[in-house]
Formats: sequence, structure tokens, C-alpha cells
Amino acid sequence: MYHGVSQYGGHGTMAVKVFEKQMQFLSKRYCFTSFEKFNEAQSSNRKQILLTFDDGYNNNFLYVVPILKRLNIPAIFFVSHRHCQPGKYLWFSYLKALNGYFQAQKLSLHGNLFDFNSRNRQKSIQKIRSLLLDLNPHPSEMYKVIDQELPGMESFVPEEMISEYFSGMSEEELKIIARDELFTLGVHTADHAFLTQCSPEETRNQLLKNIDFLKNVTSVEPTLIAYPSGDYNEAILKICREENLSNGFSVIPIRRDWNDQDVPRMGVYSSSLVKLMIKIILGDQLRSLNFKIG
Ligand SMILES: [Zn+2]
Repeated sequence: MYHGVSQYGGHGTMAVKVFEKQMQFLSKRYCFTSFEKFNEAQSSNRKQILLTFDDGYNNNFLYVVPILKRLNIPAIFFVSHRHCQPGKYLWFSYLKALNGYFQAQKLSLHGNLFDFNSRNRQKSIQKIRSLLLDLNPHPSEMYKVIDQELPGMESFVPEEMISEYFSGMSEEELKIIARDELFTLGVHTADHAFLTQCSPEETRNQLLKNIDFLKNVTSVEPTLIAYPSGDYNEAILKICREENLSNGFSVIPIRRDWNDQDVPRMGVYSSSLVKLMIKIILGDQLRSLNFKIG
């Protein structure tokens, strides 16, 4: 599981050179599989890799897609469509932008004044994060506060940095990906909500809005979901089944036994090939010993 990939890295993304090196390294040692062949691959002896990308960043289209095309590697892109609309961003992208680009020394929010001096900036971002995530109902109230009380991202981040790091894929880009036989698009909720914090109605709403968006843009009905932040429970799995999301991807699974709704994944966050190999070779065993490897 990967997330953002940018030209030089930064703001939680991986540099494109590092990403390409990892793909070349892995394609020499393993076989990449598509979702269609994934279930057959389970019974094969040879370890196969199914590559997934969460969130649906514009930088996936800019940097990841050309590399995967060149190396003929299949992948699933799980898209939260909030940031596929102009001027809209996922909540944590907004926080990363605030951390990296906001110039003023103070920021007022919801009756609090936050210190943005370099010394206290991280701590203030953490406090703002908690404040936003504690707002109810989740996630609508959080986005209302971001939209109404905080400065627009365009007012403090240069346009080219927004498309490099923070915006989602455009509808045109999603169409191109959906038409490509190598790639599959999947659900990641409308707003990248923490599903266990949503009411059952809101959970369904987060899924249905995302399914409709992807279906309308690409003419393909999605059947796969990656649970945002790996946050879900049995009640959420039931709603997913009811909405025909037959396969679900988690990070650390809540169920012990392998099943289609709870497929475990390994996140790749480091440029180190050694760490990557440890996750691939030993990840499952370490998890079975209760190490929380994500
Ligand atoms: Zn995500």
C-alpha cells in the first residue's frame, strides 16, 4: 500500500525516484498480480504482490501511472472523491498544507489561538487535528469548520504545490485510469471519514456518495473498498456487503481468518529496500505474533 508520490518527496509523499527503484527491485523478484488474478494467486506457491494506492492523489496520476504503464504493473487506486472536486481537500491534506506553508505566527480556530512558531507548530497541528476530529457529527462538522473558519488552502499554498501534494485526481484522469486494463478504481469513502466515528446512516452515505461518483465518472461500478485509516468494525462490514462492496482491504485485519472483506495490507513509507523486504518476507509472521505492523 502506497499513498502520495511526488517529484522530490515531502509532506508525507515518496519521491518518484525512490518509488521507481522499489518497483524495479520488486518486479525482478516477484510477480505483480491484478485484482482479477489475486484470488488464484492465493493458491500459488510463489509470493505475488498486489499493489494498491490509497486516497487518489493527483500525483498518483502524474508520477505513478507512467511508471506502472512502463513496467506493466497492475494496481488498484482507492479514491476519496472529495478532493477530486476543485478547491476541496481531504482534512489531513489540509493539515499538512497548514504545517508546511502557513506563514503567520498565530492561527485562531473555534475560540482558540494556536501558536505557529516553528517550535510549537507541530504541537499546534496535533491540537487542531484532535479538535477537528472531535467535532460531531463526523465528518460534516469538521469540514464545515475547515471551510468556514480556516484560511483557504489557495491563500497560503502556491498553486503548483497544491497539485503536486494536496489535490486529488481530476474526473478526466479517473476516466483514463478506469479505461486502462492494468488499473482498477475502488471506494475509499466520500470524505476520508473515520467510519467507526460515523452514524450507520452516515457510513452508508459515505459509501453511496463515493460509489455514485466513481460510477458516474467512469461508467464502472466499484466493488472494492479500502477502509480509510484501516478503521472499521463488523457493523461497517455488513453495510459494505449490503452496498455490494464484496472485497475490502484493511491494514491490520480485525479478523484472524483470511476473508474477502478484510484483506490485510502492508504500508510502504520508507525509501529503504531492506525495510521493504522485511515487510514482504516477515510481515505476515510478525503480525501473527501480534506485532502491529502496518
Ligand atoms: Zn486513505
